[in-house]
Amino acid sequence: MKIDISDIIKNQGASLDIFFNEKIPESDNKAFNCVFDRPVKFTGTLENNGGELLLQADLDTVYSSACDRCAEPMESQIALKVEEEIVTGDKAEADEIYVYDGKYLDIGKIIMDNILLKLPMKQLCKSTCKGLCPKCGCNLNEKQCNCGDGDANMHFGVLKNIFNNSGKNGQ
Ligand SMILES: [Zn+2]
Ligand SMILES: [Zn+2]
Repeated sequence: MKIDISDIIKNQGASLDIFFNEKIPESDNKAFNCVFDRPVKFTGTLENNGGELLLQADLDTVYSSACDRCAEPMESQIALKVEEEIVTGDKAEADEIYVYDGKYLDIGKIIMDNILLKLPMKQLCKSTCKGLCPKCGCNLNEKQCNCGDGDANMHFGVLKNIFNNSGKNGQ
């Protein structure tokens, strides 16, 4: 995912339109049990802003994972806006993460970092997914087993307590 920046680094104010539809390299395309093996649609501009490069773009892709509750394979779309400043290697300070050096800018890491920031904490096939029965392991979306309502109520009680506590702490 390299971009030739040789033309715009010479001229302040110069900008470059970027469009591609490309896959993230396999070595970087997995995180948190999600696989980003579909092409990423990336549209935006890269501008030389006083020697720093300003990247503004929209990106859109589909990733695969397993539902955190029922373990069924699932696919989700993720779309987001990217806005990053990229500095030259010799001007880089500790808090400036993205650096360009030479003729090419590799935006693979920028793309992946931005996706991970937006990734939902939980992968759910649907918000109402009932998950697996903790006793028999059946998929409760597909059938209702007879393992007992007692357990289900107990789990629900624990969740309720967590929400109550977090509510108090937040105030
Ligand atoms: Zn599910
Ligand atoms: Zn069961």
